[in-house]
Amino acid sequence: MLYYIDAHTHMDNNRFNKDRRKVIERAWKNSVLGIVNAGSDQATSNALIELCDSVDNMWTAVGIHPHKAGQYINDDLNWLRDLARHPLVVAIGEMGLDFHYDFSPREQQRQVFERLMALAVEVDLPAVVHAREADEDAFIMLEQLPGDHPVLLHCFAGDVELMHEAVDRGYYLSLGGVITFNKAKEAQEVAAEVPLENLMLETDAPYLTPHPYRGKRNEPGRIPIIAQQVAKLRGIELETVAKATAAAAERFYQINLKLPE
Ligand SMILES: [Zn+2]
Ligand SMILES: [Zn+2]
Repeated sequence: MLYYIDAHTHMDNNRFNKDRRKVIERAWKNSVLGIVNAGSDQATSNALIELCDSVDNMWTAVGIHPHKAGQYINDDLNWLRDLARHPLVVAIGEMGLDFHYDFSPREQQRQVFERLMALAVEVDLPAVVHAREADEDAFIMLEQLPGDHPVLLHCFAGDVELMHEAVDRGYYLSLGGVITFNKAKEAQEVAAEVPLENLMLETDAPYLTPHPYRGKRNEPGRIPIIAQQVAKLRGIELETVAKATAAAAERFYQINLKLPE
């Protein structure tokens, strides 16, 4: 059966407070049967676990977004270590560097990123990495991980050369709404050339809404739009994209979907 997995989203976001159930049902209706979230701090990581407990085929990563790194640098990460034991927690993330917004001092972003990588190794969970205008730095820091540690570069925004470097290292990439934007030629090139077995699809909802819904709130049910764009850019069947990207997410997060009869 054909289905999709949204490999990175934020269903805890307060923009879903009024209609979260309906949004999830719409995802199912659009064949997006699996949803993997990512936490940005302690509160969102906790909220996501609670949410995943109440919905089928929904999992989460727990982590500290680089935007929040400044607030956490002096805390120990015991809460994160505890949350990581929950059976619906399938990765550590978000973690990484965001030099676009620079909401946290860069040195603190680096320190928190380092600690989260070490934690991912300690608890043996994959790493979900956020890098914005910081790809080179993130790639250097990622060398601290053991070579075989699973890494997902979510919303990958590097060029084709960096994509090849990522693939050589065995990393996964996920792509979202950006590849539907007319001007995003570089991201489209990556979508056309990345090996399918390294590729996942994500909405990063409520952010990064694909064309033609730009400006509206994003939601996991829009994954098929992104899949269609990948299929078009590569000149392959939509079904091939759905199967390969869902399989990549299942492998990376080690999840098993309950499928309808
Ligand atoms: Zn992110
Ligand atoms: Zn995100």
